[in-house]
Amino acid sequence: MDEKDFREIIDLEDTRDSKASQAEEKESREEDEYEEVCVLCHRPESKAGRLITLTKGICICPECMQKTMDTIQGKDVDYGKMPDFSKMPNISFLNLADLQNMIPQRQKVKKKKEKEEEAKPLDIRQIPPPHKIKASLDEYVIGQEQAKKVISVAVYNHYKRVATNTMDDIEIEKSNMLMIGPTGSGKTYLVKTLARLLDVPLAIADATSLTEAGYIGDDIESVVSKLLAAADNDVEKAERGIIFIDEIDKIAKKKDTHHRDVSGESVQQGMLKLLEGAEVEVPVGANSKNAMVPLTTVNTKNILFICGGAFPELEKVIKERLNKKSSIGFQADLKDKYDKEKNLLSRVTVEDIRKFGMIPEFIGRLPVIFTLNSLTQEMLVRILKEPKNAILKQYQKLLALDEVKLSFEEEALEAIAQKALEKDTGARALRSIIEDFMLDIMYEIPKDDNIGEVTITREYIEHTGGPRIITRGVMALPDSRGVGA
Ligand code: ADP
Repeated sequence: MDEKDFREIIDLEDTRDSKASQAEEKESREEDEYEEVCVLCHRPESKAGRLITLTKGICICPECMQKTMDTIQGKDVDYGKMPDFSKMPNISFLNLADLQNMIPQRQKVKKKKEKEEEAKPLDIRQIPPPHKIKASLDEYVIGQEQAKKVISVAVYNHYKRVATNTMDDIEIEKSNMLMIGPTGSGKTYLVKTLARLLDVPLAIADATSLTEAGYIGDDIESVVSKLLAAADNDVEKAERGIIFIDEIDKIAKKKDTHHRDVSGESVQQGMLKLLEGAEVEVPVGANSKNAMVPLTTVNTKNILFICGGAFPELEKVIKERLNKKSSIGFQADLKDKYDKEKNLLSRVTVEDIRKFGMIPEFIGRLPVIFTLNSLTQEMLVRILKEPKNAILKQYQKLLALDEVKLSFEEEALEAIAQKALEKDTGARALRSIIEDFMLDIMYEIPKDDNIGEVTITREYIEHTGGPRIITRGVMALPDSRGVGA
């Protein structure tokens, strides 16, 4: 081996070493961002004082250590004279190895950042202005122009409020939102897209599973713990996140009930504090508080709450009010005047929502109220092809990997939209319809290497014909052979 080779080997070793040390450094830096939690009282080190490490991953705070010693020794025992514990009744020793197995992984709490960093958590100039937020939403969400506009402005104001954090005499109110719209009209999708664009953590909870604390179901505070999980246990990040509570209409006051309304009015009552801003103790890395889970405090003051629901019976309430108004006086209208009106929901007032069963205090904490329109056939066709991640684009990409071009006739898309409308579940039906007929295509096409292009026709959707297949090297022939169907 000559000297050159030798030097190369040495250099290689050096780079390996430096890579290993870099990885170690990164690991320890990541480790530094999390703090240990007392295994007994679950308080993090920043609260409980310097922890004593018993063994790797098991720490105890001085207070709990003192209490444990006092309990074991009893009051009369002189600290200097240690009794022989093994001869005492009812005292068993904990095996630390067992304890280690019992502790869930990722139990540490992310430390709050140092004060200087905390001073500038969000820069106003970094928050995109409403028209930019809307333009980004436009790339994904079809239609719902008014809703997108309202949500963009509300979100912009919310984060401005968080960024300025003014607590002087003009305090900017929190812009929590109530979103009303039929199923599958894009409520969840809108919020998900928004959170992704803003790069903030998002928790999606279902109001149907919430109950008053102490009853079977999820505690109201569990929504905050979901957000903490979405923020990777980073309290500071979670405190600027978004919580979307779906099916909010399901916690309307129950009518004619003689029992305690633990999943209705009580949940609304319980949510008041959260919506406004409160310090909540939440378990870290778990859904419910229990002995083995550490707790941390999250302030909900800057968390944006968006509640959404279909409010199915709300149209009736609105119609009733409108009919009542128009049936008084000389120009009384016909009773069924509003029966055929589309998007009656957009005429909703706070009073209607109250009549529906939401308590005034609850509605008062959701100052931004807006509605989503039910989707029309034309909108459904656009949803199929226009969004950045449209379903058709996804299938086209999949087949492009097999070097097959997939295209859809305009009439075929209309037929799909028509079918979806019949199901009455909004855009949600689109995927299941498409998956249904694309199954044959995705199964048959890879069998034959000669296939170069597939066009989905209306006949194929309606089961009266097949798709148009064009083989490689052959010019487009409208009546080529078909597969599937
Ligand atoms: P819901 O209003 O019941 O919360 P979702 O937001 O879950 O409905 O909508 C279901 C799916 O339908 C979404 O994942 C999305 O792909 C699609 N979708 C619904 N509305 C729209 C829309 N306006 N634009 C684009 N896609 C939409």
